[in-house]
Amino acid sequence: MARSIVDTAADKLRAQGLRMTAQRRLVLEILEAANSHLDAEMLHQHARERDQSISLATVYRTLNLLHRAGIIEQRFLDQDHSRGYYEIHDESEHFHFTCLTCGKVIEFETDLVAQIRAELLEKYGVIVENTRIHFEGRCTRHPDCPQ
Ligand SMILES: [Zn+2]
Ligand SMILES: [Zn+2]
Repeated sequence: MARSIVDTAADKLRAQGLRMTAQRRLVLEILEAANSHLDAEMLHQHARERDQSISLATVYRTLNLLHRAGIIEQRFLDQDHSRGYYEIHDESEHFHFTCLTCGKVIEFETDLVAQIRAELLEKYGVIVENTRIHFEGRCTRHPDCPQ
């Protein structure tokens, strides 16, 4: 059976000398259940349904820690790229397209990025540790998108 996201995260935290706390668990459970990209305020709203006392500042602190620990990803999906959206880090790498008209986010996978990494290693001897690719444009096939 596949291990739960919380168990895997607890291992990663422990390896870095950190503990799984009730608040960290809560944030991870919300992200797992949402199965989409949530910003800190959306997460805070969900968290308050289960723990009235949790503050937005605590949610921000928890997100920063989980991000630094490599457990969640931070994405800048808005048009002005100012707001961080979070999702659980998964080993199979995916990328994002945002529609500039309706804001819809499409996730996709591609082998091209692995090819680029291999090329960089071969040509320049560098190892890529972080890749940020984000496409923006317009939907053409979405009935809901006001063209
Ligand atoms: Zn659209
Ligand atoms: Zn995503």
